[in-house]
Formats: sequence, structure tokens, C-alpha cells
Amino acid sequence: MQRGSNLERLGDYNQAVILEGIRLAPEGISRVELAEETKLSPQTVSNVVRRLLDDGMVREDRTIINGPGKPRTVLQLENNRLLGVGIHLDPGVMTLVAVNLAGEKVAEESRPIPVGSQNEIIREITDAVNVLIRSNRHKRANYVGVGIAAPGPIDVENGRLINPPLLNGWKGIELVGPLSKSLRMPVTLAKDTVAMTIAEQWIGGGQGHHNFIFTYVGSGIGVGMVIDGQVVHGVSGNAGEIGHFVVGETGVECGVCGRSDCVASTLDRTFLLGLAKEDGVDLGMSEEDIAADPNAALGRLAEIAREGDEAAKKIILMVAERLGSALGTLVSVMDLNTVFVGGHTWNDVSEFVLEPVAAVINRHFLGAGSHAVTVQNTALGTSVGAMGGACLILDSHISPRASSLLLR
Ligand SMILES: [Zn+2]
Repeated sequence: MQRGSNLERLGDYNQAVILEGIRLAPEGISRVELAEETKLSPQTVSNVVRRLLDDGMVREDRTIINGPGKPRTVLQLENNRLLGVGIHLDPGVMTLVAVNLAGEKVAEESRPIPVGSQNEIIREITDAVNVLIRSNRHKRANYVGVGIAAPGPIDVENGRLINPPLLNGWKGIELVGPLSKSLRMPVTLAKDTVAMTIAEQWIGGGQGHHNFIFTYVGSGIGVGMVIDGQVVHGVSGNAGEIGHFVVGETGVECGVCGRSDCVASTLDRTFLLGLAKEDGVDLGMSEEDIAADPNAALGRLAEIAREGDEAAKKIILMVAERLGSALGTLVSVMDLNTVFVGGHTWNDVSEFVLEPVAAVINRHFLGAGSHAVTVQNTALGTSVGAMGGACLILDSHISPRASSLLLR
């Protein structure tokens, strides 16, 4: 059965639509333009804008005279009126950022990933958030809450991690309830790739794109999907598990699915560096340096490949082939023309691997002939996960969602 619209909520929905219209026009937008773009009546726009001005969410401080006719007053977002804290939980490191409505990072902090009991973990995260909020000039009252980007699988309903394979000691850790209690602010949890995709859509290259995927290549690999402008969460909030698509035997057992022919086992750093050693590729690094910074070693491998070393090239092309074929399948299923890629591991190799991966995706894309697929690096850098957490909480606070109109 279809659910109906709760009319009382229409006002909030319209306010969210108008706020988004203003947010997406950083140069400023007039009431007339807002009415044209949102298809709302000038009267409705005028009423809502008055409310937003009273709340200090927007300001009108410039009048633009553009050709003949009445000069128009433009509205702009009061960028620092609302801020969100984003937290990315990654093996080894916890990254926190504070982000304003314009998507600007106003503070950043990172510390080792907390270990210990449920209570100790909550205490450590609470402390990190408080330190972050105190580290900048913005008032605590302007923070709308905390968004957490965590490796899946997650239990969204109960706000806890289920059993993240790469996060030791975090099985069953409950985050949302205890943290919102200790911080006394709203806390939201999403799967890391879902949160990153919201960031890409909000403030990254995904702005204005209604259909795209974001691919994360870091400690694990996963994707986030946007279909018709909506980020796909899935039934349980765990959408985007592409890491265990079967792409070819490696001989390395995947720590997650137990197979040795998935994308994740192909991207296993130990496996790739082992291949390089076997094939006599000289990375110009000592064994100790390789072990201490395997990402840098992979970056070096990709660089050597681009310089023309045949053995290194073979390894890089194999990675591109397998990653690209998995992404190409997904792109075909969804009929996409845009793919973004980011993450710590990707960051070190993208300069050399982006092009071959893009070529493989386009070769595997079954809609070839209709359009090409563009593959780009995320503009959000390595803090895309924490930025994702911040956009998640800001988005849930102010973005228009058709679902918020439905009766629950
Ligand atoms: Zn696997």
C-alpha cells in the first residue's frame, strides 16, 4: 500500500527545498529565481525566506543591478550558522572534521582508533569530539550533531557496528545511543561508503549529477550509489558491497569472504607486493620500508609501471583489469556515465592507475555506443570518510527528503 502525505510536514519540506536552492547557489540567488527553480509560489518563497532570515540561516546583503528593471536582492547562506562533526572509523585511525554548510572544513583532528571496552571507546570518542569543537571559534550551539562513517556491516536501527572485519575489538559496539547521550547532541551512523557518497554529492564532484557511483579503495573496497538523485542505503543500510565480486584467482585468501578470487584479494597489498618481489621488480625500498608503508610501496610500483617496467606494468594492468571489470559490471547494471574514486590506497596509486581502470570500465560497459563513462578522482582527498560523516548529519538535518512527507 502507498503511504500518504502528512500535510503538516509540507511546510518543513518546502523550507528544506528552498534552503537547498540557496545552498546550491553560492553566488547568491534572488527570491524570483528561487520561485522559478523550486516551482513554489512567490508567496510561499517569501514566507519561508522570512523565517530563514529570522533564524539567521540566510542573509541578504547584496543588491545586484542586472540590466533594466528592478534591482534584485540576493540571498546567501549564513555558512557558519550550522556545522556538523564527521567521524571516520578506519583500521588504525579515527579522523574527525568539523564542516560548515558551505562544505568547508573548519577543524580536523585524528587520533589512533580507540581500543577497549564499550565505555572506554565512547569516552575516547566523546573526548575527541569535544576537543574538536573547542578547537575552533564556532559555538557549540551551532553544531547540529555528529555523523559517523563506519565500516560495514552496521545495524542502523540500533546504531551499532555488527562485526567490522578490519576493526579489531569493535564487534557489537553501540555508538549512536551512548554517544548522543554523552555529547548531548544528535548522532547518526552510516556505512562508510554511503557517507562518502553523500559527501561527493553534497560538496564534491557529484554536485549536479543525479546518477553516479563513488568507489572507495582504502582498507577495504566498496561503492556508494546515487540513483535519480537519491543515495542508495539498501534495506539495512549496508548497500555497496562490491569487494567480493569474483574476478580471478589470486591464491591469497580474503579475510572477509574466505575466497581467493574476489576484488579484495586482488587488491591485497601483501599479495601485490609479493608478486612484484617474485617478478624481480626493484622498488628501490628496503624490506623494512615496504613493510612500514605498503601504500607508498604500491605507489612506487605503479610509478615504475608507468615508467615502462614490463613486470610492474603487468601487475598494475592486472589490478586495473579486475577492479575495472567489477566496476564495469555495476556501471552496466545502473547505466551510468560517471564514476568517482577515492581512499587512502587509491590516493597513492591514482596518478598511474586511473587511466587504465577507466579504459577497462569503458571496455566492460555494455551500453558503449550510447555514451562513455568518465572516471575521476574524488575532490575530497583522503578525508572523504570524515567529510562524509559531517555531510551525513548536515544532510539529515536540512536536506529535503520526499520520505519525510510520508506517514510513518
Ligand atoms: Zn573477499
